[in-house]
Amino acid sequence: MSDPSNQSQQLKSSFSFCPKCCSPGPTILNDRQLLCPACGFQYFFNCAAATGAFLFFKDQLILAVREREPKAGYLDVPGGFLDFNESAEEGLQREIQEELHLHVASLRYFMSAPNDYEYGGVPYKTMDLFFIGYLENVEGIKAADDVRDFVFISPESLDPQRFAFDSTRKAFLCLLAMRKA
Ligand SMILES: [Zn+2]
Repeated sequence: MSDPSNQSQQLKSSFSFCPKCCSPGPTILNDRQLLCPACGFQYFFNCAAATGAFLFFKDQLILAVREREPKAGYLDVPGGFLDFNESAEEGLQREIQEELHLHVASLRYFMSAPNDYEYGGVPYKTMDLFFIGYLENVEGIKAADDVRDFVFISPESLDPQRFAFDSTRKAFLCLLAMRKA
């Protein structure tokens, strides 16, 4: 969990000028709200929605190796940020297609977890929605877009520290517990 005061400073440093009137130095109201003293504009830092899929093929998880920062080289589930006006299911299918060239017949909602995602030095708060899917075949699988490679791995033999993000790690540990139950 990130330190709230540090989070505020990071958010403030993302905006040196008011996004509306361009006056310098918006002030922090709280950890998700900036106020411009010149024009009164209030900017809210909202949570970005993202998705991820725990995809299984023959009881092995298909995981992506991240190509880009943050956390290049670490493991991740296929998925990503939702586009505007896209449902979580549509966005996830699009990301799975873009990253692995796969289509999953059905995806079942599993759980959600908040995450901190830093991109270009700017911190983003996200809400990651995780789904589970099963593939009959993986014909045509190919790493593309922001995915360097992919691995097939038994969940029970995977070190959770290899995951790029806390939210994915948390969901993975719930998945493991569910398989044991
Ligand atoms: Zn202003």
